[in-house]
Amino acid sequence: MFDDLTDLYQQLILDHSKSPRNFRVLPDANRTAQGTNPVCGDNYTLYAKVDGDIVKEIGFQGSGCAISKASASLLTESLKGRTIAEAKNLFNKVHDLVTTGNLDGDVGKLAALAGVHKFPARVKCAILPWHAALAAVEGKGETVSTETEKE
Ligand code: ZN
Repeated sequence: MFDDLTDLYQQLILDHSKSPRNFRVLPDANRTAQGTNPVCGDNYTLYAKVDGDIVKEIGFQGSGCAISKASASLLTESLKGRTIAEAKNLFNKVHDLVTTGNLDGDVGKLAALAGVHKFPARVKCAILPWHAALAAVEGKGETVSTETEKE
């Protein structure tokens, strides 16, 4: 019964991986962080312009598989205009979503990432940009790697 929805989500993932949104360096970014997933070869830099505790702008550059790129693209659309606390909250929801497939509340288009939990090897790809984005907006400015994560 969820076939139509699954197709819709797959199309959304494909669309975002082919034409990633906010796929650019932000010239006036005041926060950056890098994320690498050596297992898959995903490598991204996240750029954020944070004003007070609001994420005003967010963009990314780099390369990787379709899942990581789509996840990064969806992330930039979802985090823009959010507070840092909201970003953390959304990170936790997305983490649950991609590891268990359970949707906790309304996450909008990010629900498209739910299918990832069926492919354990892809979970790190999907969550990588989120680790990097969180490191960026929290001002940690560090390189995050999926290999230091216990999943
Ligand atoms: Zn990947």
